[in-house]
Amino acid sequence: MSLDDLYQEIILDHYRSPRNRSGDLDPHDVHVHHSNPLCGDELDLRLRVQDGTVGAVAYDGDGCSISMASASAMTEAVAGRKLSDADDLAEAFRLMMHGEGVKREDDLLDGVAFQGVAKFPVRVKCALLGWMALKDALQTYSEGEAEHRVTYD
Ligand code: ZN
Repeated sequence: MSLDDLYQEIILDHYRSPRNRSGDLDPHDVHVHHSNPLCGDELDLRLRVQDGTVGAVAYDGDGCSISMASASAMTEAVAGRKLSDADDLAEAFRLMMHGEGVKREDDLLDGVAFQGVAKFPVRVKCALLGWMALKDALQTYSEGEAEHRVTYD
């Protein structure tokens, strides 16, 4: 099996068997909604902060397989991490999707499977959706807010 095939399998697995997918997380500290009209992807992300770490994270949404699978992979990669570390990991994913190399490969877990998507510019926003929502949730939380909605250009 080629690496591309393996990555395809991982993405399909997250799409078919989503991790941490739930329409609610009770209690949660911050909730963001991100919308990518280009593809029609909608994502809700909820985060519970515990001792400065991502205590729990859940996503829900309606979107293409890439966006939903990537959000699923993101939740596994960031759960339990310090908030600053989770943000750093999301930044590593962002750079990877912009073809700027793969940093923190081991920490990204199944997130590495999305690097092939970088070859398809129109799908990059789909793969980034969950991770950018996470960065936004951390930022929103740090500002003392509990809700934020973003619609991409
Ligand atoms: Zn999409």
